[in-house]
Amino acid sequence: MSNNPQRYLITAALPYANGPIHIGHLAGCHLPADIYARFRRMQNHEVLFICGTDEHGVPITLAARKENTTPQAVADKYHEIIDKALYKFGISFDNFSRTTSEVHRETATDFFLDLYNKNLFEEKTEEQFYDEDNKQFLADRYIMGTCPKCGNDRAYGDQCEKCGSTLNPRDLINPHSTISSKPLVMKATKHWYIPLDKYEGWLREWILVGHKDDWKTNVYGQCKSWIDGGLQPRAVTRDLDWGVPVPLPNAEGKVLYVWFDAPIGYISATKEITPDWKKFWCDEKTHLVHFLGKDNIVFHCIIFPTMLKMHGDYILPENVPANEFLNLEGDKISTSRNWAVWLHEYLEEFPEQQDVLRYVLAANAPETKDNDFTWKDFQDRCNSELVSVLGNFFNRTIVLSQKFCGSKIPKRHDDLATETEKNMWLEFNAIKKRMEESMSQYRLREALAEMMNAARLGNKYLTEQEPWKKAKDDVYVGENDFEQLQNKYRVENCLHHCLQLSANLAILMYPFMPFTAKKILLHFNISKRANELLKWENAGRMDLLSVGYPINNPVLLFRKIEDEEIQLQVEKLKVSKANYLAANAPAKVVEPIKPEITFDDFAKMDLRIGTIVEAEKVPKADKLMKLTVDLGFEKRTVVSGIALHYKPEEIIGQQVTLLCNLAPRKMKGIESQGMILMAEDADGKLKFMMPNSKTENGSGVS
Ligand SMILES: [Zn+2]
Repeated sequence: MSNNPQRYLITAALPYANGPIHIGHLAGCHLPADIYARFRRMQNHEVLFICGTDEHGVPITLAARKENTTPQAVADKYHEIIDKALYKFGISFDNFSRTTSEVHRETATDFFLDLYNKNLFEEKTEEQFYDEDNKQFLADRYIMGTCPKCGNDRAYGDQCEKCGSTLNPRDLINPHSTISSKPLVMKATKHWYIPLDKYEGWLREWILVGHKDDWKTNVYGQCKSWIDGGLQPRAVTRDLDWGVPVPLPNAEGKVLYVWFDAPIGYISATKEITPDWKKFWCDEKTHLVHFLGKDNIVFHCIIFPTMLKMHGDYILPENVPANEFLNLEGDKISTSRNWAVWLHEYLEEFPEQQDVLRYVLAANAPETKDNDFTWKDFQDRCNSELVSVLGNFFNRTIVLSQKFCGSKIPKRHDDLATETEKNMWLEFNAIKKRMEESMSQYRLREALAEMMNAARLGNKYLTEQEPWKKAKDDVYVGENDFEQLQNKYRVENCLHHCLQLSANLAILMYPFMPFTAKKILLHFNISKRANELLKWENAGRMDLLSVGYPINNPVLLFRKIEDEEIQLQVEKLKVSKANYLAANAPAKVVEPIKPEITFDDFAKMDLRIGTIVEAEKVPKADKLMKLTVDLGFEKRTVVSGIALHYKPEEIIGQQVTLLCNLAPRKMKGIESQGMILMAEDADGKLKFMMPNSKTENGSGVS
């Protein structure tokens, strides 16, 4: 047992149940929370790790409308997909609940009533947009109108997706309902507000003074800017028909606002699995830690703690180690643009490779700044770190032990040991200490890098000892051959250390790569005893494996990721992007046909084929190029607006169609004696109108 067992309540942000889950979610909070929870469990602390899906709010009702189903059906569908994906990635929740559960409805209702009965809310009646056809107030997303900034006539009440402006529904020109398409009226509605402004002094003291040194700088900085910016009362209710109903008379058609209800989900999820839930939520000795992405900082650091403080029965988070964002191939991950690596798809395309993704995401976690996930980096880290360092050390150890030690754990020969072994174990223990230090400060990447250093220790030791050389002659002639016997013992001693180190590595890697850790232990027939062995206090012990115990046939821990696999993924993303661009391309504006002309009008134009024989850019004119066109019987100087589309050297020898009886005109001081015919394609590129095979210069066009 740990000398000082503590109680931890660890939460990971509730994913929203309107779509599947991607690597951004995993890297942002579920994976770091899992690593931390596993680590604390290994230290014999009492740990509860809680999460669930957030199933209320407008986006779910929008998704239901789009898919022509009910909000509950949308939530059911995505809850299952998300739950399954996180489970398969080894995210070791004690409870993965949902905010549509009965326990949650009761808990959220009681929470609201408690604050209401203490008279802590502010009530305000305000005019809001109302859809008379559907007899409902509309959430911002259901209101559409013309953006006052860019003129886009499909801007939403909260945002214009064309110019990116954040909007208020009142900003829109001609606001109308997306449900009925009718104009909206203003109607008074009452809501309940948390007076955040009244808690500003307390928040300042609690966060800006109290957590100046132990919260991450990105988290602290965001809190500071919110508080310094001045806190406003925030409504905790909404006019909507989907959510936890406001438990008051005359509050029909009103529900708790999703950000008020969702964090209470952590409490409900705890209640669901233990009657003893109060010791986790109401005992000051509990360490409450919230893991989340930076978009959730304000809710977990300012709003939810204020709710807990107002209620009074609950503890406050000790730390909120929020991560920044993970980008994908240099671009922001986006569900609507399908620019993402979806976990359920990864599991199909890289079966049994969960730990590779866990490793890459942890090694490259956006702990202090936004980071980029690229498939190339994924491949490099797998092949040059997991395969070449960790996998290589373990595989060599097992293969050599089978070959030279009869597939059994060989004896240790301390009489033959040198400083090398002693130093290796000293360094291993120093690594363990550094990992503890990093983990306790939520620097998980650093801890993982140390784990790899421990594997490098083993690789270096094995390479230096070269047991395969000492055991070259694996037929021992007998006890009398002293030299050979010494070599045999040296080989045994070396492999004994390597095998013990392998079992020790399983312990250090377990928080990060639980599947691989267990795979290692299977080689030593440890499956039932695995959880007992995988205790942090066991790391550094040289007697984890008993001498004489059988070793199973080697199974590769990691396989190489091939170029083709990576190309396939990159291609898939390109297709996503192309599909999105095609679906969202601005409607093509077709130029109206010009007024009719007579044949005689047309016949007045003298069109000839010519060849560009000289070309140079016109100084101080970005678009213009001065060309010399050979018409066979004479040469013409023509100024043409193609300089942004072609380089002079590209078009020498190009055949063109020239309107050669156009009145000359001067451009930038050069007289242009004609006009070259060009076509403009969909993306604005100019192309030459020319005969499809070489034609004699001067030929007429009709
Ligand atoms: Zn706009």
